[in-house]
Amino acid sequence: MKTGAAMKQENKQWKKNDSITLKIEDMTHEGEGIGKVNGFAFFVKDAIMDDVIEAKVMKIKKNYGYAKLIKVIAPSPDRVIPKCPIADKCGGCQLQALSYDAQLRFKEKKVENNLRRIGKFEDIPMLPILGMDNPYHYRNKAQYPIGKDKEGNPVAGFYAGRTHAIIPNTNCVIGAGENEPVLKEVLAYMRDNHIKPYDEATGSGLVRHVLIRVGFATGEIMVCIVINGRQLPKSERLLDRLTKIPGMKSISINRNKEKTNVILGNEIEVIWGNPYITDYIGDIAFQISPLSFYQVNPLQTRVLYETALSFAGLTGEETVWDLYCGIGTISLFLAKEAKKVYGVEIIPQAIEDAKNNAEINGMENVEFCAGKAEEVLPAKYKEEKVYADVIVVDPPRKGCDEELLSTILKMRPKRVVYISCDSATLARDLRFLCDGGYELKKVQPVDMFGHTGHVETVCCLQRV
Ligand code: SAH
Repeated sequence: MKTGAAMKQENKQWKKNDSITLKIEDMTHEGEGIGKVNGFAFFVKDAIMDDVIEAKVMKIKKNYGYAKLIKVIAPSPDRVIPKCPIADKCGGCQLQALSYDAQLRFKEKKVENNLRRIGKFEDIPMLPILGMDNPYHYRNKAQYPIGKDKEGNPVAGFYAGRTHAIIPNTNCVIGAGENEPVLKEVLAYMRDNHIKPYDEATGSGLVRHVLIRVGFATGEIMVCIVINGRQLPKSERLLDRLTKIPGMKSISINRNKEKTNVILGNEIEVIWGNPYITDYIGDIAFQISPLSFYQVNPLQTRVLYETALSFAGLTGEETVWDLYCGIGTISLFLAKEAKKVYGVEIIPQAIEDAKNNAEINGMENVEFCAGKAEEVLPAKYKEEKVYADVIVVDPPRKGCDEELLSTILKMRPKRVVYISCDSATLARDLRFLCDGGYELKKVQPVDMFGHTGHVETVCCLQRV
């Protein structure tokens, strides 16, 4: 082991604030540029592949360092001017300076690299990524923090990357166009009635966040005001303003009095309209409440689900298990073409939503069960010898539990459709399934989150 002194010696070529010139040769999966000086790698936020930049050393670790972009000396051919004026300060988007085409290539490469490096796959059946027609204003959900500016006026905006300072901005370029008029009315109501924004440091003040959801297929709007208290004073004045906005269907308050980063509390009170809005993905209707989980990019969600459905290869005779089913969105898509679909999800409230969604769509061939996929499926297999022609999994970033994957291997479905939001854990799990008797047939990346480093992937596995 090296002593601290020896380590320091290794990197004494650089110290904080040194100026360096870098050619960006690679990018991390989070979208930071990587450039090297004498073989020593620096990570630089907002620098993109093929840029030549001037940067300032910020931090030196043993084998790599972090630097700050000072000036682009020679821009990459893929560099564009971000549409959002605060893209470099806001924590939300990482890739706005990269052309959308180059973003898509970056995401394809990320999936392929992980399958190669972690999954040890060689001939990968990659299909070209399915990108968005319009990579702007695609999000149907926004949660704007409320704070105040230097003059003490209420503002809505975004947290500066990695901090909790609010940068005012009511028109996020990836958010719905409906957000801005809603926020303007909420801020005007607060100003006129002297309603105080919440102050994280002291825990005083009232309005913490404004949650806005828009049904893209229906135009229905939901607004939920998160407050550090019980009531919104003179709330009728807020309703007067908000209900003039076309499409407004649901206005509620959510009580959150905890000193926490968690945005929503558990208590919701509807103060106007319905407790939910309705939206459609394809021809299936969903009722969404402020607390429900719902995919944030409904247009690409449809693309993702159509892909999953086609990979499932259903004829109407199949029994399908949809694991990590959320509010049953994929289950209902599959149920149109299967004999029977079973959905499993850990959050009981989501299962309630799933049952309700099945009912409003008149679908009787689906059953939902609350529990952990890695407990429910093994138990049902052991006790009831349940059967599946096709198993669909859509786990969170950490991927599937090994107990679940082993049960899938024992159940021997003809096909497994794996939907993933993290290609590293996807690669690990695909390797496990392929070592257990499955063949990787198709890999379809789908871009659901333009301008961020995230990529969704649907894979089709066939029993050998
Ligand atoms: N398929 C759904 C949701 C996917 S997100 C859709 O497309 O909308 C992943 C889901 O897995 C979340 O709803 C999360 O609550 C659930 N989840 C997380 N861990 C789980 C586990 N161990 N077992 C079952 N569900 C789980």
